[in-house]
Amino acid sequence: MSRTETVLLVVFWIAVAVAVAFRIGPILRRRQPAGTPYVAFIAPPPGARWLACDTTDCGHMTTVHTPQPGGAYRCANCGHTKGD
Ligand SMILES: [Zn+2]
Repeated sequence: MSRTETVLLVVFWIAVAVAVAFRIGPILRRRQPAGTPYVAFIAPPPGARWLACDTTDCGHMTTVHTPQPGGAYRCANCGHTKGD
């Protein structure tokens, strides 16, 4: 195969790939409902802090903790209180 034939073959397959992408792209985009947010933003309560939760329920991950009387913080996910 000569160099010119190779270049023409590569250009042909690039054109085919672009044509297929233009055909498939709108089909793939139609599956997602328009205007649907991926996540809903919920503002944390005033005074809340992101702290590491010390329970296995939360997997020792960082969660929102709301302030409690006496300076303690309560996990908004499992209810565990820390710092009391
Ligand atoms: Zn927790």
